[in-house]
Amino acid sequence: MNMQPDSFVYDHILIRYGELSTKGKNRKDFIKRLHTNVRHALMMFPDIEIERTHDRMYIHLNGSDPFAIKPYLEKVFGISSFSFALRVDSDIEAIKQAVLTLAQTQEPKTFKVAARRSDKQFPMISDEINRAVASIVLKNTEWKVNVRQPQVKIEIEVHTQDTYIMTDKYPGAGGYPVGVGGKAMVMLSGGIDSPIASYLTMKRGVAIECVHYASPPYTSMQAREKVLELARLLAPYQGHILVHIVPFTDLQLAIYEHCEESYAITIMRRMMYRIAERLAQKQNCLAIVNGESIGQVASQTLESMHTINAVTSMPIIRPVATMDKVEIIDLARKVGTYETSIQPWEDCCTIFTPKNPVTKPTIRRAEALERRFDFETLLEACVEQTESVHVYPTKPAEEEVSDLF
Ligand code: ATP
Ligand code: MG
Repeated sequence: MNMQPDSFVYDHILIRYGELSTKGKNRKDFIKRLHTNVRHALMMFPDIEIERTHDRMYIHLNGSDPFAIKPYLEKVFGISSFSFALRVDSDIEAIKQAVLTLAQTQEPKTFKVAARRSDKQFPMISDEINRAVASIVLKNTEWKVNVRQPQVKIEIEVHTQDTYIMTDKYPGAGGYPVGVGGKAMVMLSGGIDSPIASYLTMKRGVAIECVHYASPPYTSMQAREKVLELARLLAPYQGHILVHIVPFTDLQLAIYEHCEESYAITIMRRMMYRIAERLAQKQNCLAIVNGESIGQVASQTLESMHTINAVTSMPIIRPVATMDKVEIIDLARKVGTYETSIQPWEDCCTIFTPKNPVTKPTIRRAEALERRFDFETLLEACVEQTESVHVYPTKPAEEEVSDLF
């Protein structure tokens, strides 16, 4: 027999906002944005209707399967938890009957009833509701009460007009709705760290665009595809992601020709920051995000970060800066980007890695080396020849490429 209750017993999904509730004055904007984001995430369920109130959102299913909706809802930031619900009039006979129907569609379990009244006008107190509901279930089914450790907690929320009956609570993605916090430009490589930096940025309500530096023919089409695939895995969190692919080869070769090898990575990363800043400004992004983690490699010592960061005054957000690699990997597995990140295709950094990169570069030395060649013209060319790809959660027959610049 089916352990899950029949999906079609439910006619609503009740959404709880969590962290939003504490954000006093911005609350209205947050709820509005969350409403829009939920609507976009559930676009493929045309029959549903979404109703929002100051502390809850309700999805009227109108016959749609809540179990099909669940994986999409789980990717909407700003939701603390949600439950499938059965909505009835706030009338004790209707409530009793609905709970009985829920119980009868499942195998017998141990249970506890937890009623809450938001409307204190309701003629029974919570405890009386609990007892009335429990007794009808006990009388008509094999279900047994267990108050301490029930297999199912039957929650009943009594409002003025309507009552919601729920059995399971699913955790939401947490955070803030994407878009309430403006927009940032993420430096997206094919590694493990930057997709997680992207995820954590969106989780704080900041929408993202991505920049990727490609060095064909030293980097392959597969490396480019891998980055687009990572963006595709991240796209459901905000609907779609614009990925800017920068042709980086000429600039990178010039760096290796004119600068000493131990400083090549430092200079290369200073160029990456300069390009990211220009793209960010064009696209109205207020910050740059990357997957740097303190001490992970030579270019990520504090001395390196200091020297590399000096080329821009834009805020640089490093969401994984203080995380251990194992913590980042754990999160990457949960988010679902890990398996793609460990695919073998080489990135531009890996190919040009010098044998002995400097771990304590100085700004003075970096500036002196940069005076040896006309990097400004090469930078301009990189920005001008950038190709922008719209990436959606599912791959269209042909990726939509636009020439923004
Ligand atoms: P890994 O997960 O293996 O550490 P990584 O992507 O973090 O790979 P790093 O060399 O540590 O690679 O680079 C640090 C950060 O710099 C990346 O997280 C990313 O934000 C940015 N970066 C590196 N290479 C590129 C690239 N080719 N395009 C865009 N951003 C890049
Ligand atoms: Mg890294």
